[in-house]
Amino acid sequence: MERVVPHGIDPTKPSIARVYDYFLGGKDNYEVDRRVAEEALRIAPDAREAGRANRTFLRRAVRHMAAEGGIRQFLDLGSGLPTRGNVHEVAQAVAPEARVVYVDNDPVVLAHGRALLATDDVTTVVPGDVRRPAEILEHPEVLKFLDFSQPLGLLFVSVLHHVNDDEDPDGVMERFRSVLAPGSHLAIVHFHNPGDEHPEASKIAVEAERNFNQNLGTGRWRTRAEIGSYFGDLELIEPGLVPLAEWRAEPEDLIRQNLTHYNVLAGVARKP
Ligand code: SAM
Repeated sequence: MERVVPHGIDPTKPSIARVYDYFLGGKDNYEVDRRVAEEALRIAPDAREAGRANRTFLRRAVRHMAAEGGIRQFLDLGSGLPTRGNVHEVAQAVAPEARVVYVDNDPVVLAHGRALLATDDVTTVVPGDVRRPAEILEHPEVLKFLDFSQPLGLLFVSVLHHVNDDEDPDGVMERFRSVLAPGSHLAIVHFHNPGDEHPEASKIAVEAERNFNQNLGTGRWRTRAEIGSYFGDLELIEPGLVPLAEWRAEPEDLIRQNLTHYNVLAGVARKP
């Protein structure tokens, strides 16, 4: 049985936030979302594991930034629906004073995010579209929570591939990088088309891209060079830009064992 639809949400059109919620085993999705997700699973049977690997990467990256990088403020762009191990939980477990701003452009995320995440005066949820960086960077709530003269943890985790080629992903990244103080960290997870290097994974990338674009209007599986360029002159930390599940994997991350390795890349870079 479908629940009451929150205000501003169209349950007849699929949304990436709800498709992803379905992959993660959440309940905030509708029939239209499940259809897109099932088609994605037909094309890439390990898409569910990739979603979970994405969350474990996010936890490892944020823990690294807070514990080793000394980061005390985070801007999580395209944050998605609240799930297990949210950024503020991971960061504030290391440093309770760490401030976290979640940004998303999907009303379902904002509705649930406000209810579940914004529970304290160091965590907040702000509506915003990464394709319009100025609106985010100049948002009064963002400026109240974040101090751009101090190191920031900037998270672009599985959102940049939803910025199409004609929406200037290079310019978007350049603008966000331009506000980073020395010592800031940037994490990116991005859909990857490995081309001739891994023809099977490349075929999956092309088909998955077709499914996403037909149904959601976004989704780009880019090359390693394109993804690498989004870090600009920041310095990738070890192990570099690698298949998602391999970024500082821990022994308990068993899911990596049955994950196709080449369709998603992840990396964290530091501004010297
Ligand atoms: N970052 C979370 C994670 O990795 O678990 C969620 C990733 S989810 C696949 C992508 C999220 O990006 C969705 O919540 C979607 O609403 C959001 N999103 C897509 N395009 C966006 C845009 N242009 N501006 C802001 N958020 C966007």
